[in-house]
Amino acid sequence: MNQQWMSRLQDFGPFRVILNHLKNANAFPESEEKLTHLSYESWQRQFLGARLTLAFELALFSYFVRIAINLFHLLHGNPFIHKEILIQTVGAFNLILGMVLLRTRGGRNHLGWLFLGFAWALEMNEQIIETLGGVFESPLGDRVRPELLGWAFTFFFQATIIPVRWPLHLASQMMILGYYFAINTALGFDTLPQGNSATGYLFLTMFWVCLICDLSVYLYERLQRAEFKSRQKLEIAYRELEMTEYKFRSIFENAVEGLFQSTPDGRFISVNASLARLYGYRSPEEMIACVTDIRHLYVNPRQRDLFLERIQEQDAIMGFESQVYRADGSKTWISENARVVRDVRGNVVAYEGNVADITERKQAETEIRKALETEKELNQLKSRFVSMISHEFRTPLTTILAASEALECYGDRWDEEKKKLYLKRIQNTVHQMSYLLGEILILARSEAQKLPFNPAPIDLEGFFRDLVEEMQLNLQANQTLEFHVRRPNEQSRDRPPRMDEQLLRHIFSNLLSNAIKYSPRGGKIELTLTTDRDRAICTVEDEGIGIPPEDRKHLFESFHRAKNVGTVPGTGLGLTIVQRSVELQRGTITVETELGKGTKFTVILPLELEENRENEDNFGDRR
Ligand code: ATP
Ligand code: MG
Repeated sequence: MNQQWMSRLQDFGPFRVILNHLKNANAFPESEEKLTHLSYESWQRQFLGARLTLAFELALFSYFVRIAINLFHLLHGNPFIHKEILIQTVGAFNLILGMVLLRTRGGRNHLGWLFLGFAWALEMNEQIIETLGGVFESPLGDRVRPELLGWAFTFFFQATIIPVRWPLHLASQMMILGYYFAINTALGFDTLPQGNSATGYLFLTMFWVCLICDLSVYLYERLQRAEFKSRQKLEIAYRELEMTEYKFRSIFENAVEGLFQSTPDGRFISVNASLARLYGYRSPEEMIACVTDIRHLYVNPRQRDLFLERIQEQDAIMGFESQVYRADGSKTWISENARVVRDVRGNVVAYEGNVADITERKQAETEIRKALETEKELNQLKSRFVSMISHEFRTPLTTILAASEALECYGDRWDEEKKKLYLKRIQNTVHQMSYLLGEILILARSEAQKLPFNPAPIDLEGFFRDLVEEMQLNLQANQTLEFHVRRPNEQSRDRPPRMDEQLLRHIFSNLLSNAIKYSPRGGKIELTLTTDRDRAICTVEDEGIGIPPEDRKHLFESFHRAKNVGTVPGTGLGLTIVQRSVELQRGTITVETELGKGTKFTVILPLELEENRENEDNFGDRR
């Protein structure tokens, strides 16, 4: 309530003007002015000047009021008012003179004299006029008498409004009292009141008034000096603090590394420009406003839990690597060093640390790892290739060598039938080797991404029927091979599918020959073709030996053969070629198998590839 009244009062026009005026007379102006370049003495001079101005103004105002009241009385015929008006007019004139002098350079250089001039205007005028009145016995004249109240008022006025330099106060008091008692007594006036007790009271009161005034000015000055000094110290300390703060802020803001301070519950307190840049924000302010939970920055939020666990355990964490989201959603790798900041009671108040972008290093690491893996794979491939070649080629070569030697030695003794049999054996073995070389060639071309891909309109059903007929020639005892065609929605296409017949042959001759090879007990082998609008879904299903679980994931690797193949011949290249051929046609291949029960391969191929994709996939050589 009081506050409300005060603020209303302060807003009131004239009052506001007075308050603003009074601000200039304050010991320490509320302006920006710095005190460090001032000595206490020069500041004190300023203060004395300001307070003298205020004192002159106040006294002048009081004189004007008193003159106005006395003029009013004069108009109503009070004869004693003449003397009063004279005294006040002379006093007001002296004050105006003092104010003018205060504004001059000479006046500002002799503020002590102006202080005495102030006392003069207030008290000495009156006393001199009193004395003169007594001397000349004019109508102004009256017996001089001690002005106890006037003196006390003057001394207190000076002590409260101009509490500077106590010797000045003492001097002005001595001037006023000295004049009264010394000059008046010298001129033969009775300066003392009636009776000893009144005189004693007068001296005692004046002594105490002077003592209190001078002492209070002295004490106030000391207080002011102390405050001045501490203000100066404070300013210096504040400036040093500003410098230090500026220095550290500059280091923080201009650091090349990303720096941060965050709360334990996951908000940023401060981040520098580098960190904001690393995370893709335009400014630190934007980053602080946008990231309300640091957890959400981590691609794997579990990383944040891990970070908190580790930092709480050891109070610091070094080289903590994680993948984080940037402002645009892209991902980047960072490495963090951080430490815990505690308050005096040991409570965690913040984490602070630095962050470095390690994306390039991570990429390099991944590439090196990949290169190492590839090299390892290549080495394995090489050794498998060497062992396969030595085995797969030596056997047929031995067969050829043995058959030809036998022909050479015993040919002339053998009949035609037997000779043909040996020649046939040699031819078959050469075919087998040529088939093997063919497969290796296809694989090599696919490795070099030079396997040709020439899609052309094809009659799928016709192709499969021919292939099945061919494969039926290879069937073993108790084996059957069936071909089924399914069209679920009987959707007819206006155009024939476009596929690469050579690749289709690679795929399905391999899958069917596998189904035949790995079904030694016989059983049914089924090839099913299902076409819908855009795809051909082909399955090759057998009731053979199946594939052991541990071999399934290596099925499509070159030269890999399952543990359960026994003596069934093979190189482990067929499925690799199948997979490459399927990929080249933008298809997929999956396998379902159960050990000892059978295997089902499903190949899904698009019926038609877009023109540009055809071109895109067409690697080099065309047949
Ligand atoms: P080739 O290069 O002569 O085809 P391969 O048949 O051994 O030799 P892949 O066709 O690549 O090689 O087959 C790899 C392995 O996958 C085979 O060795 C075999 O262990 C397993 N496999 C493939 N198809 C079947 C199937 N239908 N039933 C059981 N195992 C199979
Ligand atoms: Mg095979």
